Amino acid sequence: MSSTTTEREPLLAAFSNEPVSAFSTAAEKHAMEKALEAVRAQFGRDYDLLIAGRREKSADKLKSLNPSQPDQVVGIHSKGTAEQANEAVEAAFDYFPEWSATPVETRVGMLLRAAALIRERKLEFDAWLVYEAGKTWPEADGDVSEAIDFCEYYARQMLRMSKPDPLVQMPGERDEMVYLPLGVGVIIPPWNFPLAIMAGMTSAALVAGNTVVIKPSSDTPTIAAKFAEVLLQAGFPATSFSLLAGSGSVIGDVLVQHPKTRFIAFTGSRDVGLHINELAAKPQKGQVWIKRVVAEMGGKDAIVVDREADLDSAVKGVLWSAFGYQGQKCSACSRAIVDQAIYDEFLEKLKAGVSELTVGPSEQPGNYMGPVINAGAKRSILEYVEVGKKEGRLIAGGSAGAGDGYFIQPTVIADIDSKARIFQEEIFGPVLAVTKARDFDHAIELANDSEYGLTGAVFSKNPDKIRKAREQFFVGNLYINRKCTGAMVGAHPFGGFNMSGTDSKAGGPDYLLQFLQAKSIAERVV
Ligand code: NAD
Repeated sequence: MSSTTTEREPLLAAFSNEPVSAFSTAAEKHAMEKALEAVRAQFGRDYDLLIAGRREKSADKLKSLNPSQPDQVVGIHSKGTAEQANEAVEAAFDYFPEWSATPVETRVGMLLRAAALIRERKLEFDAWLVYEAGKTWPEADGDVSEAIDFCEYYARQMLRMSKPDPLVQMPGERDEMVYLPLGVGVIIPPWNFPLAIMAGMTSAALVAGNTVVIKPSSDTPTIAAKFAEVLLQAGFPATSFSLLAGSGSVIGDVLVQHPKTRFIAFTGSRDVGLHINELAAKPQKGQVWIKRVVAEMGGKDAIVVDREADLDSAVKGVLWSAFGYQGQKCSACSRAIVDQAIYDEFLEKLKAGVSELTVGPSEQPGNYMGPVINAGAKRSILEYVEVGKKEGRLIAGGSAGAGDGYFIQPTVIADIDSKARIFQEEIFGPVLAVTKARDFDHAIELANDSEYGLTGAVFSKNPDKIRKAREQFFVGNLYINRKCTGAMVGAHPFGGFNMSGTDSKAGGPDYLLQFLQAKSIAERVV
């Protein structure tokens, strides 16, 4: 392993991804059972709001539930008010000058400590994700590993950003450029990667020298509260961040509109992202900047299966991408676009593959799929299934799964036209539309027929077709001969085109620029 070191920096090994556990050994399984038990023992606890170090309670509470068994309350959280949202921004604004002047190496050290603490508590975090987000064990471990990766990666990137490349030197001048933090950031994560995405956006903003107000998703506030514990233990000053659970429309709008908010880092749906972008664009009284909005939004991701593909690996790639975490990844494959020459064979193999997928409580390791996140999601997904049944031919699934949890069978609907709703609209559940293409060019044309442009994959052995896909498939993350989910920090900088967002490329070398502004300084040498 190579290392970078200077007099001021900690000795730091080159970044490498945190290994994801497959829980294949008896010891690993046993350790995870213990972690689940320990987390279950904490169900139903009360969590306070954290406003720049002050713990506050409110009468109005938010309950997060176990989607596998919704009568289990995972955590009870005080809901922030508009007034508390204002206080949180003011407090972050007041502390910003001190935090931004803290040496980069100190902030980096805290972030590395946060990574180490999450690593120490990995199985516990896994267990919270199993119970609050309905993730299966490996999916939960992937989320926690990614959170560790973000902390480790952005720590290293911040050291790099603190020493920009030298500039051209004008005769008689000393010319340089430095990166400064922006100010107060509002961090708004989704529930589907409730640790990784929240930790990623928060840690990038903090290590760059900004102060933040985190507004977690109402479905996963306990995971956010546990992450806040880590930040404090890692040494981040209590005044450098606030954690405010509560309604997006009540406190979200207040946080976004506040004149002292300098930027918003949002990951979530298209509609909420556009709403935030619109609110942020309107200057408020006393506001002296244009707010920056980093908005990573939805997807309608396609996998193209060419007639010259390895069909078995294409079927596996589609299965994993469409039904891993119940299809609730922004990168999930929701459209399979298949060459007519192999269409029927592909469908047969896909149907056989789907029949082997097990659905049930995510705490039971035998289940490949757990529940969808909440009752509203279940309702909306099943409505789309009914729409899909009219728009095409049901091949597999088509209804809810057994049990009290929010289970839905993995569903495949074939012969879907590109004008169909289930071809165009993000469903965010285990529903796959399959569409027949005349040939490869037609398949790419169909894949691009979307307002989104997040991920996509192509299965083909033909180098000319692969080249064409590289040039013409308009997505932020293109995968060739592999699934379209599972982006790895450092290897697959993540973010989409068009209505999928601002293409900020989380986990990539440019990401921290979203949280910084460059100042150019020319000094005449006298
Ligand atoms: P969502 O848009 O419903 O909510 C996202 C966050 O916004 C939540 O914390 C929510 O409370 C908050 N919110 C809601 N209204 C708000 C308002 N008026 N002001 C401020 N905040 C508000 O999305 P979700 O259901 O949590 O997540 C699923 C969506 O996220 C899907 O569309 C998925 O594709 C997308 N997603 C995108 C990426 C990506 O990197 N592009 C990654 C993960 C998820």
